[in-house]
Amino acid sequence: MFDFELDRIVAWIRDGGYASVALQLPEGLKIRAAEVSLYLTEKTGVHCVIVGYPCYGACDLFDHHGVTDALVHFGHSPIPAQGDDRTVLYIESRWKGELPDLGPILGSVSGKVGLLATIQYLDLLPIVKEFFSNHGREAVIGSGDRRICHPGQVLGCNCTAAESIDDEVDSYLFVGEGDFHPLAAALGTSKPVIVLDPITGDLRDMGPTRDRLLRKRFAAIQGARDAHDFLIIVSTKIGQKRMDSAKVAEEMLKRHGLNGYVALMEEINPMALMSYRVDAYVNTACPRIALDDSARYDRPMLTVPELEIALGERAWDDYLFDQIRNA
Ligand code: SF4
Repeated sequence: MFDFELDRIVAWIRDGGYASVALQLPEGLKIRAAEVSLYLTEKTGVHCVIVGYPCYGACDLFDHHGVTDALVHFGHSPIPAQGDDRTVLYIESRWKGELPDLGPILGSVSGKVGLLATIQYLDLLPIVKEFFSNHGREAVIGSGDRRICHPGQVLGCNCTAAESIDDEVDSYLFVGEGDFHPLAAALGTSKPVIVLDPITGDLRDMGPTRDRLLRKRFAAIQGARDAHDFLIIVSTKIGQKRMDSAKVAEEMLKRHGLNGYVALMEEINPMALMSYRVDAYVNTACPRIALDDSARYDRPMLTVPELEIALGERAWDDYLFDQIRNA
């Protein structure tokens, strides 16, 4: 069960004296949008507006100013580098439930273990750490850069919490569901990443998933080697806007006698790209659009480090996961 902290939201709305509030939920939580809206209106009289745009992270925080007095953003933690706005409340929707039997993890991760999780399961890390300690094993939790709000937290575009302990651990245990977040850790670190699904208790090694993805990325890079015209995509979303990376790509293409066209986009999807007469795309927005969704696009889509490989400025053996870092 994910905790929506409705009573805390009610108190926050009352304390702030807000007459209207926008509710922004990621796709997986939108199913509860109507219920939350009704509850808050009944309890406080506030006028709720549900943000209907797709939302995949705090990186595309809705700009509610001029629309509503306040914003409640569900399912993600703040990104510290994006600043603090007292009219925005983050509800991290932490999971409240029992952990499965942890016994099997002892034989699944080797040596000193780095502990990682998605935001929903971060509360479980101290419990897992203590479990290791009780069995004579050392486990550590690292801290990320200013894109990361909590120790041990991993985003799909940032595994700096793992990087910070990469030299001292032998393996990682990632607590969470699905492949999206642990894949970031598997791509961005040098040690095995084992996933513990906290609901089912299943354990799995991310190695084969990472290798499969890398084979696809190799094919995409090969497919872009003969390209002459590149559309360099820059997102307008607050936490995905990387104009500096776009300029690096533009300069690099120019050095190789190739054309790069910078395009600003809000939503990146096959329809939005189909009109451009280019041979390939360079994506500086969410890196997972290129890495996970490339099959949806009719032309190769590369990250900037992958463009370096395509142009011979970086070796394939030196493949770099394109993280969005916030110093
Ligand atoms: S940039 Fe992509 S991976 Fe990173 S937080 Fe946003 S949606 Fe998630």
